[in-house]
Amino acid sequence: MKPVAHKVKAYSAASATSPLAPATIPRREPTDLDVQIEILYCGVCHSDLHYARNEWHFTQYPAVPGHEIVGRVTKVGPKVTKFKPGDLAGVGCLVDADLSCPYCRKGLEQFSPSMVMTYGSMDQHLNLPTYGGYSEGIVVTEHFVLRIPENLELAAVAPLLCAGITTYSPLRHWKVGPGQKVGIVGLGGLGHMAVKFARAFGAQVVVFTTSPNKTEDALRLGAHEVIVSKNADEMAQHAGTFDFILDCVSADHDINAYLNMLTVDGNLTLVGAPEKPLPVAPMSLIFGRKSLSGSLIGGLAETQEMLDFCGQHGITSDIEMIRMDQINEAYERMLKSDVKYRFVIDMASLK
Ligand code: NAP
Ligand code: ZN
Repeated sequence: MKPVAHKVKAYSAASATSPLAPATIPRREPTDLDVQIEILYCGVCHSDLHYARNEWHFTQYPAVPGHEIVGRVTKVGPKVTKFKPGDLAGVGCLVDADLSCPYCRKGLEQFSPSMVMTYGSMDQHLNLPTYGGYSEGIVVTEHFVLRIPENLELAAVAPLLCAGITTYSPLRHWKVGPGQKVGIVGLGGLGHMAVKFARAFGAQVVVFTTSPNKTEDALRLGAHEVIVSKNADEMAQHAGTFDFILDCVSADHDINAYLNMLTVDGNLTLVGAPEKPLPVAPMSLIFGRKSLSGSLIGGLAETQEMLDFCGQHGITSDIEMIRMDQINEAYERMLKSDVKYRFVIDMASLK
C-alpha cells in the first residue's frame, strides 16, 4: 500500500546548471516510528552545492539539498518514544538504514549497505528520491532524529549536524588530544568546527589557509598558529612536524604538500570531497610510514555524543543567517571562500 503523502514548500534545482528555485515536494505522513519536524533552520554545506551541480555524478533532479536541519517536532507516530510534539529536534545526513547489519549494530549507520541519505537516496516508503532540508518540514524515522541541547543558540546548532559530526568523528577516531600537533586544512564550515573541537580536545592546533584575511579569526576560533599555505617559507618551517592533519578542502589542491607536513607514522584524513581525483606522490607516504585515510560523517550515537559535548562546552558554529531566496548568491560566495563560517537558512523566509 502506498503511504499517504502531503506537500511542503521547498527550494530545488532542476538541473546541474539551473539555480535553486521555489518548488513543492511530497513528504510521507508519519508512520508508526516516524517523527514529523517543522524545519526552523538549515545549514548550507558545500556538499549541497556539489550535489545540486551534480559534481559527484549521482544527483537526482529535482534536487533539494540540505542536511543540517534543526526544528520542532509537530507530530509523532504511535510507536515513537524519544520525542513528542513541541520538542526540539535535529536531522543530519542520514534518514534511514536497516539497523540490523553489522555496521548499524556498531553505531556506524553511515557505512550500512542500506543507508539512506537525507538527499540523493531513495525514500523506501514513498519510493521517491529523498529530499533535503531546504524545505518547511521533513518526516524521519525516530532513530535518525537527534536531541538538541536546550542551552545553545538553535540556528548555530544546525551546522553541527554535518560540519560538526564530520570533524568530531575523525578527531575522536584518531585520538587527537594533548601533546599532539594537529593541522586543519581549509577554514570553511567544516574547518572552523574542526578547530573548535581539536582545541577542546587539548591538541596544539595549526590552521592551513589560502585566505590570509582569516588569520585573526582562526586564532579567535582556537588555533594556536596559522600558516598561509601559499607561503612556501612558512610551509617549509613546519615540514615533518604534524601528528595528524584533517583536510577539509572542497576544491582541487596538492595533498602532497600536506603529507609532507606529517611526522613519522602521521595520518592525513580527508573529509573534503572535491570533484576530481587528488594525485598522491608515493614518496610522500613511503618516507615516514605515513597514512592517508578518509572519513564519512559519523553514526547516530556519536552524533548525539557530539551534540551533548557541544552543549556541555558551549560549542556552536559561527554563522551568517540568510533567507531562502539568497541561496544561489550564498553558493557563489561559498565558492569564493567568502563565508564566515557557515550560512544558515532561516526557514521562516520560505513561508
Ligand atoms: P566550505 O565552507 O566551502 O570550506 C571549504 C574551504 O576550503 C574554504 O573555506 C577554503 O578555506 C578552502 N578552499 C576552497 N577552495 C580551495 C582551493 N582551491 N585550494 C585550497 N583550499 C581551498 O566547505 P565545507 O562545507 O566546509 O565542506 C568542505 C568539503 O567537505 C566539501 O568538499 C564537502 O562536500 C565535504 N564534506 C564531506 C563530508 C564527509 O562526510 N566526508 C561531510 C560534509 C562535507 P581557506 O579560505 O581557509 O583556504
Ligand atoms: Zn554536509
